[in-house]
Amino acid sequence: MLAKRTYERTHPWITFDLQTTKFLPRTWMLLGEAASKAHHIAGVPLAPQTAERFHRIFLAKGVRGTTAIEGNTLTEDQVQAQIEELTRQPNGMFLSTGPTGAGKTTTQYSVLHKLNSIERNIITIEDPIEYQLNGISQVQVNRKAGLSFANALRSFLRQDPDIIMVGEMRDLETAEISVEASLTGHLVLSTLHTNDAPSAVARMTDMGLEPYLISATVIGVLAQRLGRRNCSHCAEPYEVKQSELRRFGFEVTDPEATVTLYRGRGCEDCRFTGFRGRIGVYELMRMNAEIAELVVRRAPLADIKAAAKANGMHELREDGLLKILAGTTTPEEVMRVIFTAGF
Ligand SMILES: [Zn+2]
Repeated sequence: MLAKRTYERTHPWITFDLQTTKFLPRTWMLLGEAASKAHHIAGVPLAPQTAERFHRIFLAKGVRGTTAIEGNTLTEDQVQAQIEELTRQPNGMFLSTGPTGAGKTTTQYSVLHKLNSIERNIITIEDPIEYQLNGISQVQVNRKAGLSFANALRSFLRQDPDIIMVGEMRDLETAEISVEASLTGHLVLSTLHTNDAPSAVARMTDMGLEPYLISATVIGVLAQRLGRRNCSHCAEPYEVKQSELRRFGFEVTDPEATVTLYRGRGCEDCRFTGFRGRIGVYELMRMNAEIAELVVRRAPLADIKAAAKANGMHELREDGLLKILAGTTTPEEVMRVIFTAGF
């Protein structure tokens, strides 16, 4: 089991609550049980022929290749720095959320790419494998052969990797093993389909995970969207009243004051669309003592969101507004990607 000292370093809110509440010492005990259970599972030796077959079928597919992360979506320096800080921790769970096509997997690859080093044993379980990464063991889920996210995860925990990327947490079993993995000293990266970051913890509760396990393992959730970037060749300024931004749901300080925005006029470079390239819109929720306690109490989503905002989280549309004001995209584009769920 993971040393308590490590927990104190990586999950400071647990220690905090241990000292102040009655239910968390029990939580601590249960955490211990979950941890030893995971170790028990991991301790079962795999029969050699099974292991070899496993290797032949799932690992020998030449999944090592060139590292190609084009259009790294983590362009926001601040968000990127915070994610790097979070994922430097030796254990815990870091989640990306958003609809299909929001760049969740690319973000997870970017994190892996940053964390990849000779000393670290990194395993991914994916469906499908979207990029091939040097120095990382990537496993393709194969349902026909009985290899689901859950049993691939369980099997590969025996190799005691440092970092595990689980393509998607689709079911309770996968979520439970991911939790056990992060409780036993692994950093787990995964994705969920939710609209915003605070909803991720609610989704995990809905899946049937015990809230105390969520609060003890999740270190951060990044909600994201991909939008189109204004064409740098033909973007031109236009003036609107601040009140114009209100109809996009943005709060404005001085409705009568004008603000300069940018939109592409359309040119050959952008095939007359006005857009060229992509931008990411992000919402990063970092776990802290307050949020952890709200999760354990099964507090309403609005309370969790308020606590996340108090802890420095910028909502998707706030991040979008910054990008509109910086001239990198248009209000319409931000609203399109934020409010079109596209699940
Ligand atoms: Zn253009």
